[in-house]
Amino acid sequence: MDHKLKMTVAIVGSGASGVTCFIQLVLKYIITKPSKILSIILFEKKGEFGTGLAYGTGQEGHLLNTKAGLMGLFPQERLHFVRWMHDHKDRIEQEFPQVSPHPDAYPPRMLYGKYVQAMLDEYWQLARQKGIEVSKQQVEIVDAEVQKDKRVILRSASDHSYPVDYVILATGTPEAATFENLKSSERYIDSPWPSKRIIQTIKDKYAKISIVGSSLTAIDALITLVANGHKGPITFFSLRGLLPRVQSASEKPFQRKVLTLSTIKTLIRENRRSLRVKDLIRLFRSEVEGYLERKLDWATEERVNKNHLQLLEEDIRQAMNGDSLFQNILYSLREETYAIWKLLPVDQKILFVKWIKPYFDINRHAVPMENGIKIMNLLKSNQLEVIGNSEDIKWKGNKFVLKTEDGQVYKADFVINASGPASVIHKMEDQKLLQALLSKKYIQEYGAGGLIVDLNTLRVKDVSSEERTPFYALGHLITGLQLDVNSLWFNVEQADLLTDDLIRQFQ
Ligand SMILES: Cc1cc2nc3c(=O)[nH]c(=O)nc-3n(C[C@H](O)[C@H](O)[C@H](O)COP(=O)(O)OP(=O)(O)OC[C@H]3O[C@@H](n4cnc5c(N)ncnc54)[C@H](O)[C@@H]3O)c2cc1C
Repeated sequence: MDHKLKMTVAIVGSGASGVTCFIQLVLKYIITKPSKILSIILFEKKGEFGTGLAYGTGQEGHLLNTKAGLMGLFPQERLHFVRWMHDHKDRIEQEFPQVSPHPDAYPPRMLYGKYVQAMLDEYWQLARQKGIEVSKQQVEIVDAEVQKDKRVILRSASDHSYPVDYVILATGTPEAATFENLKSSERYIDSPWPSKRIIQTIKDKYAKISIVGSSLTAIDALITLVANGHKGPITFFSLRGLLPRVQSASEKPFQRKVLTLSTIKTLIRENRRSLRVKDLIRLFRSEVEGYLERKLDWATEERVNKNHLQLLEEDIRQAMNGDSLFQNILYSLREETYAIWKLLPVDQKILFVKWIKPYFDINRHAVPMENGIKIMNLLKSNQLEVIGNSEDIKWKGNKFVLKTEDGQVYKADFVINASGPASVIHKMEDQKLLQALLSKKYIQEYGAGGLIVDLNTLRVKDVSSEERTPFYALGHLITGLQLDVNSLWFNVEQADLLTDDLIRQFQ
């Protein structure tokens, strides 16, 4: 068929972001009834479509870190996942007897993966009924070439070509860009996912294991180990040694008086300068002190180099009582964070990422209570130790030698890198497609991480010519321009903007 009568959209990456783009595109096409035929090709390099890295885990102890009530795959319908759990109560009770289909629950991520797959199946059938051409290609896309007529030829690792009109880049979470020097050791595991790699590589249940990092990613690796019977000592080895805080049983509404978009806009207008990170710190502190009706000694709030067990016990107590004040304030900011983030110039975003984000993340991306208690028990039994001030790791023949900035030395039989995904595109070395797009200047890097898109449409911008390109991007790829890309609800809302723009191309 003449391609002017048909539009082909490629979705590269079929994790949750790719799937929400797919279902939204199908729905909007059916509603707007354009005259052109829509063809969608879903690409996925893994064996499974729909679950992605985030929800493709085989470990039941890997829980959602966002409450179920935020996990709907449809924009502004955040409770959709909860409703789906209710609709499939009998099946869920059989397969996951401990799961409650409640908006405040944190079900296993593998259950969420089943939901994403179910939605993909449902909209796949609908697309076919409505005459949309759909196809799944289980290949890795490694290259793209934009033709003179703006069509794109995608190329797979097996050298197959796919001509398309638009490309949605939903390639998700890349590997960490750290510790290249350890890759030659068979006892080095460069990512905690897929978890079967950890289980297959570490057979000795008494081996000494060091997990690089101490965030939710590190906790995934820890849960994999202990759920599979690991008995030996485990360390978290990280820059600051900060553990995520603990999720409250239910989110406590917080009425902000100081840290508001309105105050920030006033501040910018009165000072006649752009927003700075230090303004945000000042407003946050003032919000906290206003609520407590007293001045705080902020130095005592510092969590680095403190007793981790005591901190965690206190966090669990606060979470149980619903008085995790910092968390309550940051959660209340959920809908405004993006607007505030856009007001920070790039140099200030870089500063935030470097200095503030680790503290923001431990509050905003807290650990579900169930896993918080597991970590507390592991710390109590001394099976787990958290080491901060990490400096260097070397492989010395038969052991890893880990050094801290203050000269302490630790040894480990295995190292698992859970230091988090690369945020700079040219360091996402496992993502060949991105490297090809970068070298051909089809995408450009943003100073604070990720690539540059038009924030109203998610369309990749050619910064030099201001021309619109055939590429769209969402999720981790635009970390930097956006802050909440590691939250499903945010990616769903972004997919709404993206698919609105894409559907306009049919008119
Ligand atoms: C382990 C983990 C747990 C998380 N838990 C939560 C949570 O509980 N709640 C929450 O809100 N957010 C969570 N997140 C954040 C998560 O990033 C977002 O929810 C996001 O929407 C995940 O979907 P994604 O499709 O963007 O990325 P991914 O899940 O990484 O999926 C991307 C997919 O693209 C495929 N792919 C990549 N490159 C190519 C290519 N070139 N060709 C073909 N296929 C390709 C990959 O194989 C992968 O399947 C989690 C993230 C991770 C990594």
